Amino acid sequence: MKVGIIGLGFVGLSLAAFLSSKNVQVTGIDIDKTKIQTIQKGIPPFYEQNLQQYLKKAIKTGLKLKTEISNDVFSNDFIFITVSTPINKHNEIDLDYLKTAIRSLNKKLQFAKKTPTIIIKSTVVPGTTIQTIKPMLEGNSFRESTDFNLLTNPEFLREGSAIKDTRSPHVVIVGGNDAKSRKKLVEFYKKIYSKNQNYVETNTTTAEMIKYANNAFLATKITFINSMANICQKIPDTNVDDVAKVMGMDPRISRLFLNAGPGFGGSCFPKDLQALITYSKNIGYSPKLLETVQDCNNQQVDSVIKLLKKNIKNLRNKKIGILGLAFKENTNDIRESVSINLIKKLLREKCIVNVHDPKALKNVKKIFKNKLVYFDEYKQIFHHSDCAILMTPWNEYKKINPNMIKQLHYKILIDTRRILKNSNKDGLISLGIGV
Ligand code: NAD
Repeated sequence: MKVGIIGLGFVGLSLAAFLSSKNVQVTGIDIDKTKIQTIQKGIPPFYEQNLQQYLKKAIKTGLKLKTEISNDVFSNDFIFITVSTPINKHNEIDLDYLKTAIRSLNKKLQFAKKTPTIIIKSTVVPGTTIQTIKPMLEGNSFRESTDFNLLTNPEFLREGSAIKDTRSPHVVIVGGNDAKSRKKLVEFYKKIYSKNQNYVETNTTTAEMIKYANNAFLATKITFINSMANICQKIPDTNVDDVAKVMGMDPRISRLFLNAGPGFGGSCFPKDLQALITYSKNIGYSPKLLETVQDCNNQQVDSVIKLLKKNIKNLRNKKIGILGLAFKENTNDIRESVSINLIKKLLREKCIVNVHDPKALKNVKKIFKNKLVYFDEYKQIFHHSDCAILMTPWNEYKKINPNMIKQLHYKILIDTRRILKNSNKDGLISLGIGV
């Protein structure tokens, strides 16, 4: 089998590396020349556990890389599209990257010797594939089923475990209005996935909607437990961890995504929630629940500032250490990271901001340049700060102990991710939202 993958970001590169390990002949295409040069050397352009070893093998076993869609693109049996679908200034999904890729494919369709299958893996709002992509591919008198097949196959991987999730997804959704082409893709996946892999076949638009419903629900679940944490914060002797633990024992609820914290960030939840809100409004439904989730999440970072102000009255010129800048652990992705938002607020309060992250410092330097003080070692944050805030639950931060907290001028660590045991011994305080 030959596969083309257009867009080598978190999703596309993980897929390319994984499929190569399954002896699929893969050609990866990305318009970013620097990215392609880095990948060619076997170096992933972003940090993702195990990706490097997969990539190195893939390069050795013949992963092909290109910076543009060439005439032979349709020598591939499947062409996956994994380009970014961000939000534009009107808070709508921005389809420009996708449209550029589709336009190039349409131009190359005349060179196809067999009917190619084009698969939209990028997250797109319901109706996009049928109403926007299909008519573009049909330009120059091409027809679906005769000249190309078109499917949607939304991706559910999580950054930080992208390879693991690509290797064994909890479900494979194949959306398409033609049962024959859906079957073709399911058969392909059956050759590379284990026997007990779950598959769901549905129509194109439902597949698109499933992805948004999933992310909107998870965003709501996080926001729900954050609301419980904020209530617990006001009730002496309550602890949201126990609340979440017991709620999670209810099989109707489950423990996952019930960790109270500073709010969700990252490249998917905020933008997908926003895209769904705008899309719903455009089709005549006002999604009040989702808007509330968004509002609550945007405000959650303020509870961190409030907690800080409660303990340090005047923030001006105070040295605040931030532990963790990536939007979650095991990634260097800082897109929509709550830490970035917090840093901006602290700078507005005229704080001196000291930062550490095991993987994301370089990305943060690109944004803040000399406005922050950067530390390569997390322990240094304690020597140099008046107070510290743990924002990303990196494993190494679990080693933080009262002796380290003691070095902070105010002897206070705000543990927004609740990974440390709270201790008031010797006047040392590690505070979490929701205690
Ligand atoms: P990304 O921004 O990391 O990568 C996208 C890549 O596409 C970039 O390298 C960019 O240079 C390339 N690109 C853009 N236009 C192109 C074109 N015309 N031709 C070739 N390459 C092009 O994006 P990502 O995080 O991998 O996300 C891709 C899609 O998958 C998005 O729709 C996203 O919502 C969805 N998704 C992402 C995740 C995730 O955790 N990152 C999870 C599930 C779904």
